[in-house]
Amino acid sequence: MAAERDIDSLRDALRRFVAERQWERFHEPKDLALAISIEASELAEHFLWKGVDEARGYVREGGHLDEVIEEVADVIIYSLNLMNALERISGKHIDVAKAILDKVGKNAAKYPADAYRNKARLEKP
Ligand SMILES: [Mg+2]
Repeated sequence: MAAERDIDSLRDALRRFVAERQWERFHEPKDLALAISIEASELAEHFLWKGVDEARGYVREGGHLDEVIEEVADVIIYSLNLMNALERISGKHIDVAKAILDKVGKNAAKYPADAYRNKARLEKP
């Protein structure tokens, strides 16, 4: 794996991993989107039917934290693989860091801090 840990270097490492196995033909956007959903479900399964306190306790004990982190990594890996596939198929450069920061900016506009501080949703008028 790459020594660099920034997002573009991680994408490069994943691109190499896929290319070394000649898996590009399997990395269709449809399948990668499904893979993200499946990995997100594997993550959610750790918390299924647990209460808030039980779920917090779960991640503190018995190596569950490492298992949960591994599922989060799977979601991120497939997400970056999808970005790589979209870039390869479209022929257009995808700036993942910019996409994330642009979305954070949209969310900041949608959820102004003064209106949403300490609130998950606004009261209906
Ligand atoms: Mg998994």
